[in-house]
Amino acid sequence: GFIRIFADVIGHQVADNAREEWERSERTDQVRQALEDRAFSCVYQPIWDLRTFKPVGLEALVRFLPSPYRPPNEWFADAEAAGISVDLEVEVLRREMNALEVMPQDLYLSLNASPALVLSGRLAELLAPAQPERILLEITEHAIIDNYDELADALAPLRKSGIRVAIDDAGAGYSTLQHILRLAPDRIKLDMSLTRSVDTDPARRALVSAMVLFARETQAILIAEGIETRGEFETLVELGVGKGQGYFLGRPDRLVRTMQVIKSPPGALA
Ligand code: C2E
Ligand code: MG
Ligand code: MG
Ligand code: MG
Repeated sequence: GFIRIFADVIGHQVADNAREEWERSERTDQVRQALEDRAFSCVYQPIWDLRTFKPVGLEALVRFLPSPYRPPNEWFADAEAAGISVDLEVEVLRREMNALEVMPQDLYLSLNASPALVLSGRLAELLAPAQPERILLEITEHAIIDNYDELADALAPLRKSGIRVAIDDAGAGYSTLQHILRLAPDRIKLDMSLTRSVDTDPARRALVSAMVLFARETQAILIAEGIETRGEFETLVELGVGKGQGYFLGRPDRLVRTMQVIKSPPGALA
């Protein structure tokens, strides 16, 4: 009767909680192991000047190797839960920076960095071997950060040395215009949700136009992310967005492959 149903429900809940707990600890073990074994590789996506079709930089993106495939942000979330996210980011960045030796001198290397990594104070030493002008730091903020002044303070000495800063995923809802104003970034990376269908959706077109004005006013360079079609590409150029990246212009790939892509403009543009 009732007791039996009650016990069943409670029993299921206990089992569910136990399973979740077990899965979480499995993932924590996996991310620890990945850090220990350096079980990740790095891919690079070209960033282009949309008017000249010349490459301006490469964004480094990490790929964790243990299967099944899971996107980098899931790994970083697990690493955060395990208390090792900054250590993991440091190791990833170290690896990604190797590309500088192979890349053309006039291209910058764009590196993703969490606020936690910036606030850790470990970036100065990590980036010291690089020419500062060749580094663009993309600040991602999937976790809401309250203290933007602290973040700006931590970035100040790096920027003084010549390292440039981009706010990543602008328009995705993580960073408000207030945040962007306070950080006064050198680059603003438009989230791909704004790029998507910019050619067919008037509201999105208006938002991108507003961002173009905002960027101009704050003297930041705009980079559109996630350009997938000729229509999106052409509309972004028409609206005055200067730089961009996306599958239409080159997918993230092993460095040797990306170097081949940047030697000649992508076929899509021919
Ligand atoms: P993000 O920095 O905004 O990176 C852009 C994401 O969009 C990448 O996903 C990239 O593969 C993907 N992408 C590029 N072009 C296109 C396109 O045309 N269409 C679509 N649909 N997607 C496109 P990915 O590599 O899965 O990375 C996701 C996020 O994980 C990154 O977002 C970044 O926040 C974080 N991340 C990736 N690598 C690193 C890293 O080495 N360090 C840190 N701290 N974070 C990283
Ligand atoms: Mg990025
Ligand atoms: Mg982004
Ligand atoms: Mg993104």
